[in-house]
Amino acid sequence: MTPVFCNSAHVPAPEALLLKGGRLRQLRLRVRYGLLMHPSGPTLIDTGYTAHATAAPGRSAGLRLYRHLLRPDLIPQGQPEPFLARHGLRPEDIARVIVTHYHVDHISGLSLFPNARFTASRAAFQRLLTRSRWQNLHRATFPELLPPGFAERLDAIEDRPGGDLFGDGSVIALDLPGHADGHIGLLFPAARLLYGTDAQWLLAALESGRRPRGPMRLFAEDPAALAASTDLLHRFRAAGGTVMLCHDPAPAAFDEAP
Ligand SMILES: [Zn+2]
Repeated sequence: MTPVFCNSAHVPAPEALLLKGGRLRQLRLRVRYGLLMHPSGPTLIDTGYTAHATAAPGRSAGLRLYRHLLRPDLIPQGQPEPFLARHGLRPEDIARVIVTHYHVDHISGLSLFPNARFTASRAAFQRLLTRSRWQNLHRATFPELLPPGFAERLDAIEDRPGGDLFGDGSVIALDLPGHADGHIGLLFPAARLLYGTDAQWLLAALESGRRPRGPMRLFAEDPAALAASTDLLHRFRAAGGTVMLCHDPAPAAFDEAP
C-alpha cells in the first residue's frame, strides 16, 4: 500500500535561507499532501494549502498577515476536490485525515471532509487550545481552521501502540520533534518510504553540513530536537530508503504523475 502525493501550492523562498551554502535564487517550494487507499477507507495525509487559509471571508487578521508574509500560490488542479476526482473520489468519501502537525498548510482544508475522522496528536491539540492568539500566530497555528467537532472526531496518535495507525503495520507514525508541536513523520514499510513531513524544507538539507543556519532556525519549535529528527531521516536515506518532504521543490518518487 503506497501513498500518492499531490502539490497544493507553491511558496517562494530563497534557497540560501533553507540550505547552508545555498544560493540566493528563489525556489518554488511545494506544499504536498497525500492520499492512501487504505482498506478501511480512503485516507488523506494532511490537506495542503487551500483557499480556507488564503481567501475565506471572515478569516482572522493573523491568517491574512500569514498569507501576506508567505505569499502561497494555490494550484487549482492541486486542490483536494480535483485531486480526489482524478482518483474517482469525492470529499465525502474521505474516511480519515492523518494530521502530521497543526501548521496552516497541513490543516487548512480539514473542513472539506464531512465524514472524515482525524488521526492527530491529542496532546498538541490540547496545547493549541490553551495558547493565546498571539502564541498561536507565532507558531503558525490557527485553531479557526479546525472544523467544528474536531475534538469528537479525533483519534489520538497517542492511543496507537507503536504508532501503528491502522493496526496492520501499513503506516507507522514516527515522532519527529523539533519543527512544530506534535510533528510526526509517516513510515510506509512496504514501500521503504519515510515521509519526513517538515523536518527540513529541502532534501539536500538532510546532509549534516548543509542544514540551515540563521533565521530559519528561529522557526523551529526546538532546534536540538530538530537536529536529531533530521539525523534520523538522513540515516534512513543512507540505508537505501526513500525520504520525502512536504516542501522539497523537486519531483519525488511518490508524487502524482504529471
Ligand atoms: Zn510545518
